[in-house]
Amino acid sequence: MPEHVVIIGSGPAGWTAAIYAARANLNPLVFEGAISEENRQSGTLPLGQLALTTEVENFPGWPAGDLSGYLKSSLDAEHHWLADIHHKQGVSGPELMHLMRQQAKNFGTRIVTDDIAEVDLSHGTPFKLTSAGSMGEVQEIEAHSVIIATGASANYLGLESEERFKNRGVSACAVCDGALPRFRNKPLVVVGGGDSAVEEADYLTKHAERVYLVHRRDALRASPIMADRAKNNPKIELVWNSEVTEVYGDDEKGLTGVKLSSTIGEPDRDMDAAGMFVAIGHTPNTKFLKGQLDMNEKGYLKWTVPFRTNTSVEGVFAAGDVSDDYYRQACTAAGTGCMAALDAERWLAAKGL
Ligand code: NAP
Repeated sequence: MPEHVVIIGSGPAGWTAAIYAARANLNPLVFEGAISEENRQSGTLPLGQLALTTEVENFPGWPAGDLSGYLKSSLDAEHHWLADIHHKQGVSGPELMHLMRQQAKNFGTRIVTDDIAEVDLSHGTPFKLTSAGSMGEVQEIEAHSVIIATGASANYLGLESEERFKNRGVSACAVCDGALPRFRNKPLVVVGGGDSAVEEADYLTKHAERVYLVHRRDALRASPIMADRAKNNPKIELVWNSEVTEVYGDDEKGLTGVKLSSTIGEPDRDMDAAGMFVAIGHTPNTKFLKGQLDMNEKGYLKWTVPFRTNTSVEGVFAAGDVSDDYYRQACTAAGTGCMAALDAERWLAAKGL
């Protein structure tokens, strides 16, 4: 028997879709991704980008506080370790994601810890999905509807030293991490020259002593209004024709500075900084869908009906960052996950499936 709905992805969009689909008696099956070195390297481990962050201060309903007791009482015993390492400063990204997963599970969601490697959406419903078999058997699944919630991965510079200081000074999300104590009243570096880089830099000036916006050329890619915002903010200093080629730090303090290399042949120099925010774009996790669903020029899935999560194939819906290169927030992803489950439910009902 084909599944009613298969959800691919396990960030806020995937789990919210699962909660709604389970409560609509659709018995959802979630492929949460494989725990593999390949996924670790590409930033696509289960639980999505939030699992890579520290405190989450902007998800509604989670003000700062000590959640140890709550974590222990709400999570399955296998995840009580989260309560033991809880920082008592409000909910963390991994905690929030485990809580969402638990909530979906409580309503009967079935979870497979593997990737979907291939899909065949070309013959209509039931759609055919093939798992990667990274952690066990390869599975062939049929599904009447599919919700794609595989998210996007922030692009990083790819330096070994950058990897070492991720979550200890290196971040790709100022809104998520910028207000953390380690960055307050300290000099910070933002890498990139687009709207995101300017937005990140501008946001960081709320808390930082100074923000160095490091761009590899001598003109911003950002829109004129955003470029003016950077130029007019007295706390932002533009550092042109430069690339970060090394991140410095130690175990105790985390990141303490970066090495800047000139792209026009000037000498290298070191710069003190408590943080480096990389804003050089995101890549949606849609490689396995190439040729199956309409995407924009950057590979994000297109919503084909305004304010609905429909994709170019009837019965396939998209939610979260995989179809959003604009808002990219946990709460917007959760919102579209809810929409996708409701869209799938109505579509299945209309088809009598
Ligand atoms: P983007 O426009 O693609 O800009 C990426 C920037 O990163 C570019 O300046 C690029 O340099 C630089 N870059 C790329 N790879 C690099 C590398 N390996 N090393 C150093 N620098 C590198 O991406 P985005 O800023 O994330 O914006 C994405 C989309 O969202 C855009 O359409 C943007 O307009 C939109 N957006 C809008 C707003 C807003 O309006 N408030 C806010 C955020 C995003 P080059 O310029 O040299 O290529």
